[in-house]
Amino acid sequence: MKRVTVLGATGSVGTSTLDLIERNPHAFEVVALTANCDVEKLAAAAIRTRARCAVVADEKCLPALQERLAGSGVEAMGGAHSVCDVARMGADWTMAAIVGSAGLKPVMAALEAGGTVALANKESLVSAGEVMMAAARAHGATLLPVDSEHNAVFQCLDRTAPRGVRRIILTASGGPFRATPKEAMRDITPAQAVAHPNWSMGAKISVDSATMMNKGLELIEAFHLFPVAAEQLAVLVHRQSVVHSMVEYVDGSVLAQLGTPDMRTPIAYALAWPERMETLCPPLDLATVGKLEFENPDLDRFPALALAMEALKAGGARPAILNAANEVAVAAFLAGRIGFLEIAAISADTLSRYDPAAPETLDAVLAIDAEARLYAAERVKDCVA
Ligand code: NAD
Ligand code: MG
Repeated sequence: MKRVTVLGATGSVGTSTLDLIERNPHAFEVVALTANCDVEKLAAAAIRTRARCAVVADEKCLPALQERLAGSGVEAMGGAHSVCDVARMGADWTMAAIVGSAGLKPVMAALEAGGTVALANKESLVSAGEVMMAAARAHGATLLPVDSEHNAVFQCLDRTAPRGVRRIILTASGGPFRATPKEAMRDITPAQAVAHPNWSMGAKISVDSATMMNKGLELIEAFHLFPVAAEQLAVLVHRQSVVHSMVEYVDGSVLAQLGTPDMRTPIAYALAWPERMETLCPPLDLATVGKLEFENPDLDRFPALALAMEALKAGGARPAILNAANEVAVAAFLAGRIGFLEIAAISADTLSRYDPAAPETLDAVLAIDAEARLYAAERVKDCVA
């Protein structure tokens, strides 16, 4: 029996994770499930999986959770500190599927507990990559990438010869606006931006995919996960989302991982690793797919990707600032306060105004994140005014 905890259990990745766990009740024992405030979904999942505890990060939602769980045998907890407490409880396997920098402290808590952390929350490696990787090493934690591209690379990396890697190529679907002319991008609405052609995901990452900031964040994530220099990371647009990423070796071999675009595959890989487990994902039928197409990304139409590439090369505090500004801008876009093109503009502007020293601790990262959010929020106000 693997003892598992799911942080962000009510989201897109969290729900897929629970689906796999619940189909294999004899293999997994659920320690804790967490959510921000979706009491109904969290409580139902906690009761179904006989979780030891359920946590809402938003303390205001605790009374409702307590009421819903009364008599169920599941302990109800509330507050961001409680999310960290359960992350530290030492499950064998923890899914980190909270969205955004709210995931940083819980991911750190799970790493410090020294178990296996399946990482969907890419923002924690973007903002605090050095600090997180150092913590994983110091506490003997195992970090397994869940992001489909990184999971693909993880599967393709020949661990016996890391010096044999020439390049890591992350594929990108290009999102819903892959072929949209620049002039038409100004009028893109939140509803259009969250309608991803290939993947079903939470709102924030869907907007990130639409701006291609997501691929930029993923380059930074890959830089921390894999033993390569920034120059060895490349992006290739591949609209079918069948090839999930590739590793090119010095001898000319290119290994790729393929599959239907369904997060249950990379989640299952992380859940069963180093074994494999069955999923209900439809098998890949390449004859039906017919064609696999590839093209270079257009950095002119997708300035967010260019911005993230610069932040990766510059390093230090740049990725943390970029991540924070982007989160503020995406939230403002989803709330209808700013336009689509302003997401990248606000991120660029925040980066140009603020240049602190490289953070060496998680607290330093969080301070940079907080300050960058203030700059970005000011810019949002300027746009609205
Ligand atoms: P989502 O919005 O569907 O779910 C987010 C989860 O985080 C929910 O359970 C929510 O309750 C919780 N949450 C939100 N704010 C919180 C807070 N302040 N404190 C504590 N918990 C909070 O998001 P998602 O699409 O499942 O993505 C989760 C993470 O996985 C993101 O970092 C995303 O980039 C990454 N990811 C997602 C996918 C995907 O297919 N959805 C693919 C790759 C990577
Ligand atoms: Mg991805």
